[in-house]
Amino acid sequence: MPRTVYPIIRRRVILLIVLSVAPLCALVAYDNFADRTRDAAAVREESMQLVRVVADDHRRFIDSAHQVLNVLALVPAVRRREAAACSSLFSELLDQYPQYANIGLAAPDGNVLASGISLKQPVNVADRAFFQRAIATGGFSVGDFQVGRITGKPGLNMGFPVMGDIGAVVAVVFVDLDLDWLDEFADRTGFPEGTTLTIFDSSGTVLVRHQHPASEIWVGTTLPETPILKAFREQGREGSVETRGPDGRERLYAFTMLAERSDAGEVYACVGVPTDVAFASAQRELIRNLLLLAAVTIAALMAAWFGAAEWLLRKTEEVERLATTDGLTGLLTRRSFDELAEMEFRRARRLGGEMSALMIDIDFFKKVNDRFGHSTGDDVLRELGRLLQGIVRDVDLVGRYGGEEFSVLLLEVNATQGLETAGRIREAVAKSGISTSRGPVTVTVSVGIATLRPEDVSFAGLLGRADAALYHAKLTGRNRVEVA
Ligand code: GH3
Ligand code: MG
Ligand code: MG
Repeated sequence: MPRTVYPIIRRRVILLIVLSVAPLCALVAYDNFADRTRDAAAVREESMQLVRVVADDHRRFIDSAHQVLNVLALVPAVRRREAAACSSLFSELLDQYPQYANIGLAAPDGNVLASGISLKQPVNVADRAFFQRAIATGGFSVGDFQVGRITGKPGLNMGFPVMGDIGAVVAVVFVDLDLDWLDEFADRTGFPEGTTLTIFDSSGTVLVRHQHPASEIWVGTTLPETPILKAFREQGREGSVETRGPDGRERLYAFTMLAERSDAGEVYACVGVPTDVAFASAQRELIRNLLLLAAVTIAALMAAWFGAAEWLLRKTEEVERLATTDGLTGLLTRRSFDELAEMEFRRARRLGGEMSALMIDIDFFKKVNDRFGHSTGDDVLRELGRLLQGIVRDVDLVGRYGGEEFSVLLLEVNATQGLETAGRIREAVAKSGISTSRGPVTVTVSVGIATLRPEDVSFAGLLGRADAALYHAKLTGRNRVEVA
């Protein structure tokens, strides 16, 4: 098999590998898409749960503040507006209710009369929403998320009017809900890094924004007209959207309505989980799969580059060898001997070379079979083949021409040299017993030899002359060499 086909085979094997890797790449991509879709759904679900819990917690804080204020409004010291007694009561209560940044009491003109945290200077809350609403409605009021005037921290003030003996509002008692609970909530629920918790109203004003882990809580900024806001408007009370946040990071936002307030419109809570976190496992799997695929591809390409052609052709060569050689002796079959010999014949004719052809036939081989059995006869044929190959050179051709007939083509060998080789063959066979499984068997061969002459026009003609000489050797007593 000519080695020039190796690069072609190599290229084809590489093409095959590339063609088979392409659908695998598509499969990996599809798998990743499916993973991401699944993860997105899971994160959306999780965020939705979180934001609902935030809403519930928020409602609970407001409800409990309502109750606390309700009770405080009935305390005699509060009703009598005893500043010192109230301040110490509020201060004690602050220890018991850590969710409040402050508890205080304001006069109807807004001046703060008592405060759980000591005042450094006089404070007036007349302009605060919680205060105005409490006075206006005569009931529990929730203010806006603001930085507290007394605490200096972002919080949510809630107020309750205190009624005097004659049924008029004599003061407003209030609590300042500390928004640190958002922090605690985020810690408690194990938010992924970069998760945001935002509370804002329908006009897009961010009332509270918290980013995990514990960043500063800030209030009162206006959210630009972002896709988040659009989604809230379109999806109603609850929903989700995947978009870039104000900080440029891609997040899955889940939101739910926190409170419906007649005067302040709707308030929403929103949890935003960064998508890179959400898709981290899908991303890892994608990278792992791609690396694996790359490794396999590289290994396959390397194998193709360094060995596939040889490996594939070795089999082909094996098949070819089986087709051109005789199964018993390993010598050339008659057909391949004729083909190769014909090529050598033409070359010798063209270049004016010499060659001698031998026909060798075992004498009375039938008797060998009859006496020792067919299997021993096979042994003799095999051994004789080996013996012939041992005598001639590697360049010479040796074939099993028929049952117990062998053909030999000696290249660059003239009549004298040919005769000499033929004589050696005959002698070697005759003098050494051929070794078989049943011991040495003595046989002889008859040999016909013909050397290339100018009038020979084909190898078949040359071999025909050798065959005629062989016939002559048989007739004239066997175990002989006859020259054509
Ligand atoms: P001669 O000296 O005239 O050549 O006598 P011979 O017996 O050798 O010649 P003949 O052509 O009459 O017989 C050849 C025998 O070779 C007949 C056949 O059984 C045997 N033979 C042919 N092929 C095989 C083979 O593959 N294995 C064995 N064991 N015997 C074979
Ligand atoms: Mg014979
Ligand atoms: Mg014969």
